[in-house]
Amino acid sequence: MNIKEYIRPSSLDEAYESLTKKEGAVVIGGGGYLRLGAKDIEVAVDISNIHLSFVNERKDLIEIGAMTTLREVEVNSAIKQSFNGILCEAVKPILGVQMRNIFTIGGSVYGRYGFSDVITALLALDTYVELYKGGRMTIEDFLNKKDNEKDILTKIVILKNRKGSFQSIRSTSTDFAMLNAAVSKHENNFKIAVGARPGIAKLSNKAMEYLNAAELNEENAVKAGEIAADSLEFGSNTRGSAKYRKEVCKALVKRGVLEVI
Ligand SMILES: Cc1cc2nc3c(=O)[nH]c(=O)nc-3n(C[C@H](O)[C@H](O)[C@H](O)COP(=O)(O)OP(=O)(O)OC[C@H]3O[C@@H](n4cnc5c(N)ncnc54)[C@H](O)[C@@H]3O)c2cc1C
Repeated sequence: MNIKEYIRPSSLDEAYESLTKKEGAVVIGGGGYLRLGAKDIEVAVDISNIHLSFVNERKDLIEIGAMTTLREVEVNSAIKQSFNGILCEAVKPILGVQMRNIFTIGGSVYGRYGFSDVITALLALDTYVELYKGGRMTIEDFLNKKDNEKDILTKIVILKNRKGSFQSIRSTSTDFAMLNAAVSKHENNFKIAVGARPGIAKLSNKAMEYLNAAELNEENAVKAGEIAADSLEFGSNTRGSAKYRKEVCKALVKRGVLEVI
């Protein structure tokens, strides 16, 4: 990776100004994914000097700064004790500790990677994404956003109301997930997200509606898995065929629902 100009601003104002005014400027989070290719980067805006690495626990929510590493997400006691530990479970299988010490939650969300375990878990929680210019929005709206306007993700805000379960299946440990799923519950309201389809994680609204009105038992957990598998689209790649992913979806959603109830 060749970087022509490297900037390390000390304020968000300065970072945003460089990002939007300089042609070809990109934000560097952990730089873990960016450096995979032999890219030429015109201007690298390194945001590691802006104090965006933090975890703040409030009464009803947890705020995670964009530069917080996935390792910190994994071991932070407030995050571990919230949502049934779903976020810790989601990041644990990602490569090794050394890489999780580099990857950031901001880069993981902003990258909108189809294989992401992080996005699947966050989508099943009541999660908000805060952008410097674009302000606060639900993670679902962020993922569906069509404009390509440059912005800086500053933090993730998660309400502490839900209990969750994260499930994934991998051919070998540390590989990308062949499929992942996250289920959460708050009172009688379920959220079911399925990712690595291999497209980006999506909620199965049909399975959620079914479960919200159903008696909570194993039979209905199985049914929710079947509805999720029928209502979402799956594709094929080297990690699995669409047909296989659809079958695995039934099992992962069922397991998630059973764990949560
Ligand atoms: C070999 C490998 C295996 C992986 N396996 C998995 C896996 O199994 N599961 C999984 O969930 N993830 C996996 N990942 C992804 C990883 O967890 C991170 O999501 C990824 O590296 C991006 O995080 P980063 O901090 O390195 O971001 P970077 O590489 O720095 O940036 C990624 C993108 O986001 C932009 N960006 C970064 N931070 C911000 C910000 N704050 N605001 C605006 N834009 C920003 C960058 O400009 C770039 O476009 C893997 C990555 C690699 C390299």
